Amino acid sequence: MSSWNLHSKSTASPVSDAEWAARVELAAAYRIFAHLGWSEIIYNHLSVRVPGEPDCMLINPFGLTYDEVCASNLVKTNSKADALNGQWPPNVGGITSHWALHDNIADAHCVMHVHTTAGVAVACHPDGLLLNSIHACQLQNLIAYHDFEGVTTRPDEGVRIAASIQDKPALIMRNHGLLTWGDTVARAFTTMWLLNRACEVQLAALSMGTMLPVSQEVRRRCADVSFHFNKDYGAGQDLFDAMVRKIDKIDPSYRT
Ligand SMILES: [Zn+2]
Repeated sequence: MSSWNLHSKSTASPVSDAEWAARVELAAAYRIFAHLGWSEIIYNHLSVRVPGEPDCMLINPFGLTYDEVCASNLVKTNSKADALNGQWPPNVGGITSHWALHDNIADAHCVMHVHTTAGVAVACHPDGLLLNSIHACQLQNLIAYHDFEGVTTRPDEGVRIAASIQDKPALIMRNHGLLTWGDTVARAFTTMWLLNRACEVQLAALSMGTMLPVSQEVRRRCADVSFHFNKDYGAGQDLFDAMVRKIDKIDPSYRT
């Protein structure tokens, strides 16, 4: 592994400006996830559609940790999990499920999936996410659930995941983990940040016993004014941009 040139161009064919921008943005997301402790060593996936190429998406090379991902080593792939360029192998399991969401949900430009401890813990709880924290209340009516079918490697499960999601931007995969999607990387990230924070708070609160309930009216008010989804407040772009500035100070090599 140490002999791999992590920053070499994996692309055999020319890359458009739009694809390169998508590569840099997605690579930034991987570094942000690594910084936040949301990675699963070499597993889990974040993906985006390739601008102007509806049959292609970008995803992490299998075998690299999130802090090794950079714009040039992201794998460009298609629905059949063929690596369209580069020295890096694709992760078939990740591609089959992510592709199904890009293919079946019109606005799913970006798809993010994690196995954070808090996320898996809540996914294992029979009641799922309890809408009793300031974070969880903002997700009222925005969460879907999908029953566990084992490790997600079969394309037909991807279609069922898309059916479970319908139009909800946040998915709790029971006994498994969390998934979000969005029409931008920033929106998918912001939904994941809110969902994971809600899971962390629930995990901590239930360790003390029970959670103080919130009324339906207050939940609704909370969701209605949530600045995380409000376009007047950037719809999450400000949050994502703040994290990009942070990782740029730590290690800007993801841009290569
Ligand atoms: Zn998973």
